[in-house]
Amino acid sequence: MLYNQKRYQELLTELKPYKATLVAVSKTKSVEAIRALREAGQDDFGENYVQELSGKARALNDDIRWHYIGHLQSNKVKTIVPISHLIHSVHSLKLLKELNKQGEKAGRTVSCLLQAFIASEETKFGMTFDEMDELLHHSEISRLKNISIKGLMGMASNCDDTRKINAEFLSLKNFFEEKKKENMPDTVSFEILSMGMTGDYRIALDQGSTMVRIGSAIFGERKYTS
Ligand SMILES: *Cc1c(COP(=O)(O)O)cnc(C)c1O
Repeated sequence: MLYNQKRYQELLTELKPYKATLVAVSKTKSVEAIRALREAGQDDFGENYVQELSGKARALNDDIRWHYIGHLQSNKVKTIVPISHLIHSVHSLKLLKELNKQGEKAGRTVSCLLQAFIASEETKFGMTFDEMDELLHHSEISRLKNISIKGLMGMASNCDDTRKINAEFLSLKNFFEEKKKENMPDTVSFEILSMGMTGDYRIALDQGSTMVRIGSAIFGERKYTS
């Protein structure tokens, strides 16, 4: 089985009332699996590894909307900019500048999200609310004409404590709504709130997520995780 058709259809039905976008996270999964899901009408796919993403994008040669959701490093920006529809994991001004530079070279505007650190796990990446606030109001942001910051992404703690996950997503939603009301440069618009994975997407939707990133529920368990 290339993907779980029943679960996929159930997910679409579940997401509908929320008008949330489903990003099918295909990391470690085959090109055939992606193609099969693509044929079922799925447009948005998420990948974590730069090499894997570029290989798949080349192999599929399709108008798939690729989302880069993995940890972002400056030296990889060049490779992902021409391929990605949306980059979810921006965590510094340095990266924004590099994205802008590569966007300029590729002759395109790079859409991205700032990754927020909302979990209580050291292993997770992202910026604190204060850091995001500072970045969004940084004088250089308005000069980065080839980027478009479209919102925020966050990952909750990997645990079974529903109340804790709920509180983490809520804190991000509150920050998102707060920033949305503020005066921002043209390069910033708060439209997308990317939160929720297989284990916690229902909680995320209830807390206002507009985009969920779901892998294992659709494609089955991964042999190795990241
Ligand atoms: C792997 C991954 C997902 C999807 O995880 P599942 O639990 O398989 O749904 C979502 N977001 C990020 C950033 C990931 O790395």
